[in-house]
Amino acid sequence: MSEVFNFCAGPAMLPTTVMAKAQQEFINWQNTGSSVMELSHRSDIFMAMAAKAEADLRELMAIPDNYKVLFCHGGGRGQFSAVPLNLLPQGKSADYVVSGSWSKAAAIEAKNFGDVNIININQDTDTQLSLVDSKDWPLNPDAAYVHYCPNETVNGIEINAIPDTNGVPLVADMSSTILSHQIDVSKFGLIYAGAQKNIGPSGLTIVIVREDLLGHAHTATPCIMNYKTSADNDSMYNTPPTYAWYLAGLVFTWLKELGGVKEIEKVNQEKAALLYQAIDNSSFYLNAIDPQYRSKMNIPFWLKDESLNQQFLDESEAAGLTALQGHRIVGGMRASIYNAMPLEGVKALIAFMEKFEKKVN
Ligand code: PMP
Repeated sequence: MSEVFNFCAGPAMLPTTVMAKAQQEFINWQNTGSSVMELSHRSDIFMAMAAKAEADLRELMAIPDNYKVLFCHGGGRGQFSAVPLNLLPQGKSADYVVSGSWSKAAAIEAKNFGDVNIININQDTDTQLSLVDSKDWPLNPDAAYVHYCPNETVNGIEINAIPDTNGVPLVADMSSTILSHQIDVSKFGLIYAGAQKNIGPSGLTIVIVREDLLGHAHTATPCIMNYKTSADNDSMYNTPPTYAWYLAGLVFTWLKELGGVKEIEKVNQEKAALLYQAIDNSSFYLNAIDPQYRSKMNIPFWLKDESLNQQFLDESEAAGLTALQGHRIVGGMRASIYNAMPLEGVKALIAFMEKFEKKVN
C-alpha cells in the first residue's frame, strides 16, 4: 500500500514507528508470552510501564510536583461532567468561556451540575472570525474556576496566550493541543485531554490537576470520576484502559526521542505556516479566521466554489490524503495536523491543493 496521510481530527494518525513497535510487541510483550492487554493492571510489569509513562509525560510537560496526573476513562465529554462535579461546590458559580463548539458543549454539560456563567467571546465581522482579547473577558473574581478550550478542534480557533484569571483556578480542555507546544502548567488549576489526537488511541483521558483542588467533590460524584479517589489509587481504583495507557507510553517515548515538546513545536509551527500560506496565497481557498487566533492543529479551509467540495474530497482521497472533510457544523475542509503528521504530509496536501486549483480553474 502506498503512503497515506490521514488528516482526521480524531481518532487521529499515530506515529508510524509507534504503530510498528506496538505491532511487533502485540502478542508477546516484554517476553511475557502475553499481550500487554491481557495482563493485570496490578502486575509489577504493567505498573512499571504505567509509572514510566507518567514520568515521561511529567518530563515532557515539565509538570510541577504539586500536580497529580490521572489516567482516566470517559474522554473529553466525561471531563465536561467530572470538572463541575469535582470543582464546583454549591453556592459558587463557574465561568465558562465560549469560543467555539467544544467549549459551548462543556458549558451546557456543566449546567447540569451547578451554577454556570457563560461568557461568549466570539467577535465575528462580515469577513473575519475573531475573539475578544482575554484581558477583556468579564470574569467573575469569585468564580470557583474559569473553563476554556485553548484549541477548538471543530472551528480551528486557538487562544495562544494563557489567560490571566487573577488567582481563580484555570481549567483547560486541551484535547486537541496538548503536547503540541510548550506551556507553563503552573498557570493552570486543571488540564484535561482525550488521548485520541496527540497522545494515543481513544479510551484514555489525561487529567493534570493541582493537589489543592482535590477532595472537594460533590457527594454524588461517581467514584470513577472522583479525582481524589483516582489520585489516591494511582488511577487504578477501577481497571484503567490498559492498552491505551501502554500506547500513550510509546508515544511519549517517541516524542522524547524527537527532542520533546520544544522540538515538535517548531515542526508544528512550520507545518501550519506552510498550509496557511498556501491558503492565503490562493484566491481559490479561504480561511477567514483572524490570523492571531488560527489553530496550528486543526486548519479548516473552504473552497470558494463549494460545488467542487465532493470532487476535492474524492480526488484527495484517491491521492492518499484522507479524512479532509470539514466538521458538519462548519462545512468545507479541515486538515488536522497533530504531532504525528509529518511535514511531508502537509507538503503533499499543499501540492495536491495547487494541482486541483489549476485543474478546475
Ligand atoms: N473537547 C475537544 C476540544 C475535542 O476536540 C473533543 C473531541 N473531538 C472533545 C472535547 C470530546 O471528546 P470525546 O469524544 O473524547 O468525549
